[in-house]
Amino acid sequence: MAIYIKGPEEIAHMREAGRINALVLEAVRRAARPGVTTLELDRLAARLIRAHGAEPAFLNYPSGTPGVPPYPATLNVSLDDELVHGIPSRRRLRAGQIVSIDCGTRYQGYIGDSAITFAIGEASPMAKRLIEVTREALQRGIAACRAGNRVGDISAAIQTWVESQGFSVVREYTGHGVGRDLHEDPEVRNWGTPGTGPVLRPGMTLALEPMVTVGPPLLYVKGDGWTVATVDGSLCAHFEHTVLVTEGEPEILTAL
Ligand code: MG
Ligand code: MG
Repeated sequence: MAIYIKGPEEIAHMREAGRINALVLEAVRRAARPGVTTLELDRLAARLIRAHGAEPAFLNYPSGTPGVPPYPATLNVSLDDELVHGIPSRRRLRAGQIVSIDCGTRYQGYIGDSAITFAIGEASPMAKRLIEVTREALQRGIAACRAGNRVGDISAAIQTWVESQGFSVVREYTGHGVGRDLHEDPEVRNWGTPGTGPVLRPGMTLALEPMVTVGPPLLYVKGDGWTVATVDGSLCAHFEHTVLVTEGEPEILTAL
């Protein structure tokens, strides 16, 4: 395992990548209304990223699975029981759905990676609670992202909170280091033991991304080879920020 510590110039690029990514997610969130297709959201994101002199970081990402083509789009748009990696399509959004949007932006060779989940119109009380619990899980993970702590402290903060609320964390997918590559060391699990794992040091940049299910955290991949959904069809949510470990407070690089 090699964890890359970023220098000041690299961090400046990552700040800009993160800022652009945040602007794009906010624009997509505003555009997401009943009747809009997920492909229209994708085109909006691609246009905005390129207008900022940056590139979509997910486009052409290798699947790692023989026979499954590289990722074909800018966004992951995952609906209801879909957790991550939903491929934009002609599907139209409907009121009452929850939508998870994950976006990556590469600027000057450095990547910002973040995700949000929100309701289209009015969601069920359970969906609202799921979204709030997952959002709070990310905040608790970020609060643990301090120099001298260990990766397991982040993991435990997320898991403890989510399970205390009666929901489950997913085991198949994790947060990760991020920088020149979309996925760098270390793996940042959403479950774990305090005081274990690599020590956090200033200059590390981590993508924290709690993925939470209402039902059992059992997943499958749909026939397109990418879209990940819950086996029992129950709702799930996903929030993500790219975070810089500093000498003091953690800096969220993908916040507006
Ligand atoms: Mg992401
Ligand atoms: Mg990520």
